[in-house]
Amino acid sequence: MNRYQDSHLYRIRHSAAHVMAQAVLERFPQAKIAIGPPIEDGFYYDFDLPRPLTEEDLAAIEARMREIIREGHDFVRREVTADEARALFHDQPYKLELIDGLEKGGVDEYGEKTDEAVVISTYRQDTFEDLCRGPHVSNTREINPDAISITFKAPAGAYWRGDEKRQMLTRIYGTAWETPEQLQQYLALLEEAKKRDHRKLGQDLGLFTFSTEVGKGLPLWKPNGAILRDLLERFLREVQIERGYQPVITPHIARVALYERSGHYPYYKDSQYSPFEVEGDYFMLKPMNCPHHIHIYKDDLHSYRDLPVRMAEFGTVYRYEKSGELHGLTRVRGFTQDDAHIFCTPEQLEDEFLGVVDLIEFIYQSLGLTDYRARVGVRDPQSDKYVGNDAVWEQATQAIIAAATKRGLDFTVEEGEAAFYGPKLDFTIRDALKREWQVSTVQVDYNLPARFELEYVGEDNERHQPIMIHRALYGSMERFVAVLIEHYAGAFPAWLSPVQAVLIPVADRHLDYMRQVAAQLRGQGLRVQVDDSGDRMSAKIRTATLQKVPWMLIAGDRDVAGGTVSVRLRSGEDLGAMPLPNFIELARRIVDSKALTLA
Ligand SMILES: [Zn+2]
Ligand SMILES: [Zn+2]
Repeated sequence: MNRYQDSHLYRIRHSAAHVMAQAVLERFPQAKIAIGPPIEDGFYYDFDLPRPLTEEDLAAIEARMREIIREGHDFVRREVTADEARALFHDQPYKLELIDGLEKGGVDEYGEKTDEAVVISTYRQDTFEDLCRGPHVSNTREINPDAISITFKAPAGAYWRGDEKRQMLTRIYGTAWETPEQLQQYLALLEEAKKRDHRKLGQDLGLFTFSTEVGKGLPLWKPNGAILRDLLERFLREVQIERGYQPVITPHIARVALYERSGHYPYYKDSQYSPFEVEGDYFMLKPMNCPHHIHIYKDDLHSYRDLPVRMAEFGTVYRYEKSGELHGLTRVRGFTQDDAHIFCTPEQLEDEFLGVVDLIEFIYQSLGLTDYRARVGVRDPQSDKYVGNDAVWEQATQAIIAAATKRGLDFTVEEGEAAFYGPKLDFTIRDALKREWQVSTVQVDYNLPARFELEYVGEDNERHQPIMIHRALYGSMERFVAVLIEHYAGAFPAWLSPVQAVLIPVADRHLDYMRQVAAQLRGQGLRVQVDDSGDRMSAKIRTATLQKVPWMLIAGDRDVAGGTVSVRLRSGEDLGAMPLPNFIELARRIVDSKALTLA
C-alpha cells in the first residue's frame, strides 16, 4: 500500500464514487453498474446506461450527489458469502461476473489480479450497496459537498474490463478534494492542461496531423513540426559527436531470425507486427534498433583500446498498440528513438554512466526542463528471472548508484524495477504544470552481448565480453515533442520556433521594405515570414500571436525612412523601434544561447 491509498483523500474519493453511482441509479433505475475506483486526482464509475448522457443529466447527477452528501449517511460494511452477493446483485450482470472472479480468487472486486486473500464485502450508504472492500469515510458528511465535481463534461467510453470485444460502457469522471479552494485550483489546472493539449496545439500550430487513410497512430509531420523535430535531432547529434558518439544508420526491416536470436521474438510478439515473407525467408518491421547496432559492432574486431564504442542512431521502430490506446503523439504505432548503444568494459561502466547522466542533464537544462528525478531499477532479491551472475549485477548496480550520487541526482532505488537483463536508470521530468513524464532511460545489458557472442581483446590478449548500455535521452521523438508542446504551451524558445519572426507591414507600401528585411534576416540564418495577406495589421498581429511566433517586426513610414523595425513579443510586450542590425544582434544572441527569454 502506498501513501495515497492510505490517505483520507483516497477514502473521500472512493466514497464520492459510491455517491455518484447512487445518484446515477436514482436517475436511471435500469442502469447496470460496473466498477468505480478512486484514481489519481479523482475517481470514476463505469455504467451501462439506457441512453447517452446529456449535460443536463450530468448537472442533475452532480446536484443530487451534493444532496446525498448533506443528508449524512453512514457507510456500512458487511461481509457476505458469494451466494449472498449473487442474490444481492442478481440484476447486475457486471457485478455477478466480478463475484465469480472473487469466488475463484486471485482477482479483486475491480477484476484486477491480487495475491491477497479475498473476503467478499459490501459497503452501503443510504439506498446504495456496492461490492467493495473499501476503505471509505464513515459518513457522507466527511465529503465536502462544495469540493466535488464531475470533471469530464463529455463522458468517455470505456470497454468492460478493457476488452474491446466486450460491452462499451459510459465512464463518468469526478474529482473530490478537502476544500473548495483545492477543487478550484485543480479545475483551473485541468482547464490549462486542456489548452496545452498537444493534439490540439499540434493542429493549431501546423506541427503534425493524422489521416485515417494513412492509418491510426501514424503521425504525419507537417513542415513546422518537421523543423522543430529536426532542430532537436541536430542539437543532440552535434552534442553526441562532441562526446565521442558515432552515428550509424540501419534499415527498418530485418529477418525474423535476428529477433529470434536477440530474444525479442516471439517473447514480445504481441507488441510486434506480423512477419512477412520475402523470397522464402521471413522479415518483420524493426521493433528495436539494438540487434542492428550489435551487428555493426560485430563487423570489426575490437581491442580494449577501442572501447568504449558509442553508436547513435535516430532509429524508427514499429510497435503494435491497440487502437483504443493510441493517443496523439504519446502512443503511436511507429516512432523514432534517439537510440544509442555503448559497448564498454566492466571497469568503464561507471564513467560511461556518468557521461550519459551528464549528457541527459545538459540537454534538459538547455530545454528549460529543470524539474526532474531519477529511479535506479535494481533486482528483486526474491526473484530468479535475471540473467548474468550476482557479481556483475552488484558491480553494475553500484556503478549506477555511484554515478547518480556523484552527479547529485534526486533519485530513489526501486527494488524489482530492473529489466531481466540488467539494472537501469530512468528519468522522469515534471513539466510546467507539474505533470510527470517518463522520458530518458539508461539500461545495462548482459544478455544481448552473450546471445550475440560479442567480444573484445583485453590487455591480457584474451577474448572478453563487453557490457552493453542502451540509452535513449529524448526517448521517442514523438513523445518528447508532445511533452515539449505541453510544457511550453506551444510557445517554444526562439531557437526551437519553426518561425522565429513574422514581418508585418503597416500598409501595402511597406511590403518591399519588409521583403528586404526578410532577406537580410534569412541571410543571418533566422527563420522568418512576411505576412503579405490582405488582412488588417491588427489581424496579422493576432494571427502571429496565436501562432506563438516569438518576434513580430512591424514597419511603417518612419521605419522605412530610418532603417528600423518595431519589435513586439508574442507576450504582447513592445520593445519599440530599433535599427535592424540591433534586432539581428538581439535575435542571434537569444537563438545562439538557446535562451528561454526573448529580449
Ligand atoms: Zn467501492
Ligand atoms: Zn537498445
